[in-house]
Amino acid sequence: MKIIIIGAGVGGLATYHAFRKYLPQARLEIYDGHPSPLKSNELIGGGISLGPNGQRTLASFLPSALSTIRERAFEYSGIAFANADGKVITNIPFGSKERYKYGQLMTTRAMVHEVLLREDAEMDGRVHWCMKVSRVWEKDNTVCVRFEDGTVEECDVLIGADGARSQTRNAIFGEEYKPFYDGLTGFGGFVPLTSLSRFTQDAIKNAIPSITMGRVGAFGYSPITPHNSTSKVLFWFSHSEIEKPLPRDTPRADMMPLLLKRHGSWKSIYDDPKDPENTLFKQIITVACTGKEHNNWFMLPRFYTPLLPHWTSLHGLSKEGSETRMPSSKGTGRIILLGDAAHAMPPEGAQGVSCAFEDALTLALLLKHYLPQDLTTSHPQDALVGEDIAKACKSYEDIRMPRVNKIISEAREKADRKREISWVQDKIREIVIWVFSWLPESYMNDEIFAYDVEDSVAKYLGVSKDSL
Ligand SMILES: Cc1cc2nc3c(=O)[nH]c(=O)nc-3n(C[C@H](O)[C@H](O)[C@H](O)COP(=O)(O)OP(=O)(O)OC[C@H]3O[C@@H](n4cnc5c(N)ncnc54)[C@H](O)[C@@H]3O)c2cc1C
Repeated sequence: MKIIIIGAGVGGLATYHAFRKYLPQARLEIYDGHPSPLKSNELIGGGISLGPNGQRTLASFLPSALSTIRERAFEYSGIAFANADGKVITNIPFGSKERYKYGQLMTTRAMVHEVLLREDAEMDGRVHWCMKVSRVWEKDNTVCVRFEDGTVEECDVLIGADGARSQTRNAIFGEEYKPFYDGLTGFGGFVPLTSLSRFTQDAIKNAIPSITMGRVGAFGYSPITPHNSTSKVLFWFSHSEIEKPLPRDTPRADMMPLLLKRHGSWKSIYDDPKDPENTLFKQIITVACTGKEHNNWFMLPRFYTPLLPHWTSLHGLSKEGSETRMPSSKGTGRIILLGDAAHAMPPEGAQGVSCAFEDALTLALLLKHYLPQDLTTSHPQDALVGEDIAKACKSYEDIRMPRVNKIISEAREKADRKREISWVQDKIREIVIWVFSWLPESYMNDEIFAYDVEDSVAKYLGVSKDSL
């Protein structure tokens, strides 16, 4: 059986590794529209959280990668919330090692991506880089994929792990669920601790991740390097309402007045009382907008897709996805979406990578459960295999969609709290955050962080976890 994975981002690579473990007989091919990041000096992406659930998932199909990530990341268990007057409102628990076995990690997208690529010495060479997909469609019991260079490949199952602007998704929905700008733009980057004032360096070196909420947006910062690192780095981000997304190539220096206007008068507990004008926020913004490290900066207008009604082609194909170029209510389920292609989520959920790992493992376990043991041959005409794939798709959607949709809805509510608000709303928000901090961690976090993919799949299938 031949399985093609489109997209060698975090989700696509995780899928590749999970399938290699659970479907070792399947022939896997992985394609990406960009060059290998290992051949570039650019640091692609900003900081990401890897929750206890994401780590538990990765541990079950690639434990060595998890160990490497844990060695290089910053581990924490709570977030400090502060107001723009420099007052810490409260610390909220956010995934402790004692409770969930794995503490929350803050790290870079680039590092997680690189670890998944370097995990297997051959991995980088296995990916067909610079192969951009232009169309995906179903034909009888196969899936066809055309690349921009005109090449067409066929396979038995195609996994669309091609991100928020997924071309694969068009095969199922056409343009119907295309991403929309949510009115918030994120700015962020990495600042070496040594670039801040001596006072701030000493004060902040043992800080936990912090989010300061003001009436015109939010500003967060977090260590991104391990506790024992000798060259500590801070990740920072600012989310603000901006009516129209700024052009991607807007120079950093042009952002400085905008960021200073929003956060320049904000205070923090790490400000030097003897130098009150040189606040932490002003220092970070200045270093970020004028420092030499161009790679250490990003501006990301936030685009999301509406919640999709399904994640596989089982329920029908768009004009684009049907061979006859006529929308069809019949699909075989051989096109399956995963990661951001199925559910691009706001960063407030801090679950983008963790949920992509969960998707990958769930799908691998389900395909292993339903498909015949011998996957060495291609089965395009085999009606039985088609039924098995359809069962796997339905189970995948039943297990994954309710969980992920709930995470997205909660993240969107949190994102809305970063929009511009009145003084009264600001104070009410502070009280709400403070009240939340009194709730037990089990109530706040168990549903997301204690989640175990293997338990969930075993329960759904009515089998024991050991038999998966
Ligand atoms: C450049 C970048 C920066 C990011 N930065 C952050 C961040 O700072 N913080 C955060 O929380 N999350 C970030 N994310 C999102 C985070 O990586 C995802 O939420 C999570 O890893 C799940 O990703 P994914 O693999 O499903 O999708 P993605 O990470 O988007 O990967 C999709 C892959 O598909 C490839 N692709 C897309 N279209 C095509 C096509 N037509 N043909 C072939 N290949 C295609 C892309 O090149 C990419 O490698 C970033 C994503 C990207 C792509």
